[in-house]
Amino acid sequence: MFIEKEYINSVLEQAKDTDDNEIEAILNRAEHSRGLNHTDIAALLQTTKPEHITRIFSIANNIKQQIYGNRIVLFAPLYVSDYCVNQCAYCGYNCGNSFNRRKLTMDEIRREVLILEQMGHKRLALEAGEDDDRCSIDYILECIHTIYDMKCNNGEIRRLNVNIAATTTENYRKLKDAEIGTYILFQETYDQDVYNRMHISGPKKDFAYHLEAFDRAMEGGIDDVGGGVLFGLADPFFEVIGLMIHNEHLEKKFGAGFHTISVPRLCKSGTININAFPHLVNDQVFEKITAVIRLAVPFTGMILSTREGHTMRKKLLKLGISQLSAGSSTEVGGYSRREEGRSNPQFEVNDDRDATAIIGELMDDGYIPSFCTACYRSGRTGDRFMELAKSGQIKDVCLPNALLTLREYAEDYGNDSFKEKAKAAILREYPHISNDRIRKLTVENVEKIGAGARDLYL
Ligand code: SAM
Repeated sequence: MFIEKEYINSVLEQAKDTDDNEIEAILNRAEHSRGLNHTDIAALLQTTKPEHITRIFSIANNIKQQIYGNRIVLFAPLYVSDYCVNQCAYCGYNCGNSFNRRKLTMDEIRREVLILEQMGHKRLALEAGEDDDRCSIDYILECIHTIYDMKCNNGEIRRLNVNIAATTTENYRKLKDAEIGTYILFQETYDQDVYNRMHISGPKKDFAYHLEAFDRAMEGGIDDVGGGVLFGLADPFFEVIGLMIHNEHLEKKFGAGFHTISVPRLCKSGTININAFPHLVNDQVFEKITAVIRLAVPFTGMILSTREGHTMRKKLLKLGISQLSAGSSTEVGGYSRREEGRSNPQFEVNDDRDATAIIGELMDDGYIPSFCTACYRSGRTGDRFMELAKSGQIKDVCLPNALLTLREYAEDYGNDSFKEKAKAAILREYPHISNDRIRKLTVENVEKIGAGARDLYL
């Protein structure tokens, strides 16, 4: 196995001796947006000097601006089944919890997707508990086809990321054939002892099988994989080093590391007593971790969900986050049943503003909410994406595509004031663009983005 507890502990221990000059040298290297290795990261994580932390934050913001500009990619989760055979100590779906479990019928999925499309979403993350009998791979594949087929007016889902339990190479090949975007799986914790304690029973208890899931996914042809840990289970610095070693392992073996990294923090959930978890991560440490990850992997998308509240989400956008979920429900059938109130969410969300409010605030704060899915549709995945990203070329494609999808969103879902804001955002990025070309951004070209065969340039 490429994760060894003693090794990670020794890296963290040795890094405690890093002197100020060495920290400065690491930060100088980080400024060039070429990434850092896990030993550099161990030193940065453990520095407590305010001047170092201020500089880490400032470099994280600069890297974010340099590589992603003002763009923030938006998505929403779609929970399709809460059947689960695992007993995970932190999760509301724990099979020991008794509640009315269910999976969505295809008609219910269409209803959920319709609501998400009406919010303007083009990118979803499909979520499910693990139960090979009641939520089989065939069911998941049927969900995927239903979601991609579901079109309403101008609404359609163009990229479906999938967050289901670790599975076989053969099943990953099926997911690839069903044209999923990123396969997302959180390791939960890289500390095997904690992992064993947290996963009391069920197939997820197998640490190695879970850890090697991305190897199987990539062997099955999936190019883009998204990692993460559930912060709050074990020592957060240990977790970040684990994540970095995992990323280095995938880079070495497959030529591309994580396409995205998520930074979920443990939230309240039905029956769990959050205070019984001794490694809860406070805000200060969480901010530092996010910024350090941005320095380590400048080209990896960083995802923040509604597990975080409004204020923290705003803050972390300046420390490296490039993708946000908006208007999320963490419950099976939760979008259709919103009016009735939530009943069995996997965990409680902390930013429950609707998508319009979140997107509107992003615009007011000078960001460009992006609904772009062109990379995936144009085959820019895995090492191809990373090559373009590392050479700096990717942003020439991303900015116009982001503006195009923002313009499309404004036309389809915005009121007059939102349309004006979208126009102002385009003018901010391209001050000399004519009104005629702004109009063309939607009128002529949107369909081509939908068809997805090519990218569109201003
Ligand atoms: N069943 C799949 C698996 O085993 O990986 C999908 C996982 S679940 C739908 C998505 C993620 O939610 C989990 O990987 C876990 O990290 C996170 N999660 C579970 N309980 C949570 C809680 N109480 N607070 C925050 N996140 C939680």
